[in-house]
Amino acid sequence: MIFTCGKKYISNNSGGEVVIKTRYFAAMSLYLASINSGSNGNCYYVGTETDAVLIDAGLSCRETEKRMARIGLKMSAVRAVFISHEHGDHIKGLESIATKYPIPIYITPPTLSKGKLRLPLEALRTFAANDAIAIAGMTITPFAKMHDAIDPHSFVIERNGVRVGVITDIGVACAEVAVHFAQCHAAVLEANYDEQMLENGRYPHHLKNRIRSGHGHVSNAQALELFVRRRHPHLSHLLLAHLSADNNNPELALNMFTAVAGKIKIVVASRYEESAVYHITGPAVAAPPKIKPAKPRVVQATLF
Ligand SMILES: [Zn+2]
Ligand SMILES: [Zn+2]
Repeated sequence: MIFTCGKKYISNNSGGEVVIKTRYFAAMSLYLASINSGSNGNCYYVGTETDAVLIDAGLSCRETEKRMARIGLKMSAVRAVFISHEHGDHIKGLESIATKYPIPIYITPPTLSKGKLRLPLEALRTFAANDAIAIAGMTITPFAKMHDAIDPHSFVIERNGVRVGVITDIGVACAEVAVHFAQCHAAVLEANYDEQMLENGRYPHHLKNRIRSGHGHVSNAQALELFVRRRHPHLSHLLLAHLSADNNNPELALNMFTAVAGKIKIVVASRYEESAVYHITGPAVAAPPKIKPAKPRVVQATLF
């Protein structure tokens, strides 16, 4: 992988002080890429110079490897896979990845059971909302979200105060989502549908209502409100994620956010190809205050 900023420092290296700065600089950063985003498969990469975690495994192992290789990323750097919930677009590549690589898989027992996944026992790890997990210099904090799955979570990955959130499949920008998003330097944030396109679209009425029920997905407008109201001054990158193929338009979503983004880079995470690798850095930001999470209501889990 080419680490643009680190490389610049290293190539200018002519003394010990610069080396120290290089190490300090590298330690205050993370790398973020979307491998795919949408109802056809979700997989997000967050890592350091040497190690990484994947959030969700919605593409086959072969496709995940192929796309990662195109942007200079290697599966051999992946130290763990975290699963957000059991919907097929988040787990359908997991068995093939677990068959090929002995990577620890962090998944809660209800999600494992509901997903009917056959995984090597030795790979299985569990997690609980708000209990941070340390992996290779990163800290991964899961938190609960509203979505029509059995035990859904989003994640924040932190390294020395630099924070990246992976926040998709949220029925609503609940208090948990808001406090975590508010501390992020970068975020993968769901912007699933345009409200008018959903209303006027071909989906049956009951499906439209489930999507906008508060346990389905968030609209462009809901995500935009979170972005405008809660973004941190150090937020530098926003990847708009899980856009509906039927009820959204990438250009429309991009324009809505870009219009109010200032210097923040807005990217639509594609449902067809991997993104670039984004280097996320900035002054350390404190962890969010602990709040009492709302208990997500468990409903029938069929909505992707
Ligand atoms: Zn999904
Ligand atoms: Zn889902």
